[in-house]
Amino acid sequence: MSVNLKSMTLPELSAVLKELGQPGFRAKQVYTWLHKGVRTYEQMTNLPQTLRAQLAERYPICAPNVVRKQESQKDGTIKYLWRLSDGNCVETVLMRYHYGNTVCISTEVGCRMGCAFCASTLGGLVRKLEPFEMLDQVLFTQVDSGLPISHIVLMGIGEPLDNFDNVMRFLELVNSPEGMNISMRHISLSTCGLVPKIRELAKKKLQLTLSVSLHAPKDEIRNTIMPVNKAYNTEELLQACRDYYEETGRRISFEYAMINGVNDTEADARLLLKRLKGLPAHMNLIPLNHVEESPLKPSTRAAVMRFQQILEEGGVPATVRRTLGGDIDASCGQLRRKYNKENQQ
Ligand code: SAH
Repeated sequence: MSVNLKSMTLPELSAVLKELGQPGFRAKQVYTWLHKGVRTYEQMTNLPQTLRAQLAERYPICAPNVVRKQESQKDGTIKYLWRLSDGNCVETVLMRYHYGNTVCISTEVGCRMGCAFCASTLGGLVRKLEPFEMLDQVLFTQVDSGLPISHIVLMGIGEPLDNFDNVMRFLELVNSPEGMNISMRHISLSTCGLVPKIRELAKKKLQLTLSVSLHAPKDEIRNTIMPVNKAYNTEELLQACRDYYEETGRRISFEYAMINGVNDTEADARLLLKRLKGLPAHMNLIPLNHVEESPLKPSTRAAVMRFQQILEEGGVPATVRRTLGGDIDASCGQLRRKYNKENQQ
């Protein structure tokens, strides 16, 4: 992919504009416009016409187009299916929480992690997203919905730590004061457990929330639903989580999709408690979202409540995630999958 100005940091953009003979203050103007989600240089009204034309010729602005937009009648959740400039599609979900509007963005087109319960991985990995393509999901969701975005979760299609450098750059962009200025504390990054990358992330000491998709208390179970566990087992993963906490001081948030008859017994909850001992954690229990292609089914309400109770009594705060947008295929990968199937891609 050619150089894209929207993937550049302000100092990098400054170098480009200097090269074009522009005064120092121009870079910030262009950067601010790009981070507002403009579609053309013509919208950059405080730039000289010649510069607008020059930039348009050398650095065309890429912007995603809405292919489908579904709005939940129940809770106002909006799901977007975007078409990227190369024709690939990704999903973004806008959720309206009491603390602020949150976007769930995709980090890759498809995914190569192969989790048994996940729709995003069914067609494998197509490609990684560029930094600007992650930024665009935030920008254009805000522009299209007219709702100010204050929080971001990297929990859409893809494995963020499998696209490490681009994700790090995206975080820098979206966090920048001249751009969207979204605080790291308002950002969560979710991983299926790529241990070396968790360690690399720890070194950066970012104030974001690391979410780890655990989904099982032991290898015997995790191996059957998450192939990544064969590369980095639960022992290694939990040790990396402990070290992450030591290094960053940030409590880890765990995700646990509750699957009927697979990982939802009382014994599983007790074992989980034992294994998390001494690790400041928060457990998000998510009743499995049923994916058409998979035989796995969600746990019963009673099993979920009992699981939560055992964790809470053992001192691990556990919340049952409210499922937003259940009426609009809002869990990862489902809308893209449906669309691709309908269009035989
Ligand atoms: N690849 C990253 C982030 C993307 S998925 C990760 O694995 O963490 C975001 C979360 O949704 C993960 O916890 C993932 O395991 C979970 N998830 C995927 N499919 C699901 C489903 N059908 N029901 C419930 N949770 C699901």
